[in-house]
Amino acid sequence: MTITNPVSFEDQGLRFVGRELYEAFFAGYTAKQWGVEPKELPASILARLPVRFNEDDSYFNHPYQAIPKYGYTPIVEAILNHASIKVRLNTRFDPNSHAVFGEFDHVVWTGPIDAYFNFEFGRLGYRTLDFVPEVDEGDYQGHPVVNYCDVDVPYTRITEHKHFAPWESHERTVVYREFSRLCGETDTPYYPIRLVKEKQQLLNYVQKARGAKGVTFIGRLGTYRYLDMDVTIHEALLASKSMLECIASKMQLPCFSVDPMV
Ligand SMILES: Cc1cc2nc3c(=O)[nH]c(=O)nc-3n(C[C@H](O)[C@H](O)[C@H](O)COP(=O)(O)OP(=O)(O)OC[C@H]3O[C@@H](n4cnc5c(N)ncnc54)[C@H](O)[C@@H]3O)c2cc1C
Repeated sequence: MTITNPVSFEDQGLRFVGRELYEAFFAGYTAKQWGVEPKELPASILARLPVRFNEDDSYFNHPYQAIPKYGYTPIVEAILNHASIKVRLNTRFDPNSHAVFGEFDHVVWTGPIDAYFNFEFGRLGYRTLDFVPEVDEGDYQGHPVVNYCDVDVPYTRITEHKHFAPWESHERTVVYREFSRLCGETDTPYYPIRLVKEKQQLLNYVQKARGAKGVTFIGRLGTYRYLDMDVTIHEALLASKSMLECIASKMQLPCFSVDPMV
């Protein structure tokens, strides 16, 4: 039977690859990653992952894919090395503190949108990860990332970082195992859950944000969406452009540059 209009993650997986490959690659991994059965997840989570039946082992379908030769650090350093940018490390910005807020004409908020409003409508759900490091000699797995799809293996994947930079040579190796679980109040939020309950809560925060002054919400936590890095950077550039246009035409800066509900 062909599934023409997939609603759940499971529908989408079966439509993409059929039952046998779906069970082998998606079902167990997804149950571990999200902590719910794939039937309860929206099709959109899987729809953003490329599935292909050739030898191309790139992660995405984009025509150009690369990571910076010297890593991201020099890029970020070059951005921050600007006379108008002052960096304050290890400093939590508290939007509920008027003293802190009063220092700035406008805030671009990349933290969690619910934290900005002091969790007024409850905490938005996230998955977090525990990263467990291990140092070994030589080569551990021969690839940057290997996924473990069986439910009886407690971790979801192992990343061996030196394979991201095959032009470098290292005798030893560092690997990280990732264990997924529900995000607690003191954990780092990683993946927005965005099921029905969270979507309703998000709507409350978005409506509140639309009425707020002096703040623009952007990024993964600010808009409560799973975003890849290229999309995040693209959206940040679009947001900067629209903010500069607003400043030039003396208009109020937008609270969002994309619709977080989409
Ligand atoms: C485990 C994992 C693996 C990923 N792998 C990939 C990948 O392979 N490829 C890819 O393209 N994308 C990947 N991503 C996605 C990528 O990390 C995100 O797209 C990107 O980090 C989003 O950038 P951002 O600036 O919106 O949010 P973040 O990078 O989360 O930055 C938000 C920052 O705001 C800070 N902050 C929050 N609240 C406050 C506060 N009150 N005061 C001060 N600072 C605050 C946070 O500490 C954080 O540094 C991955 C994400 C995760 C979680």
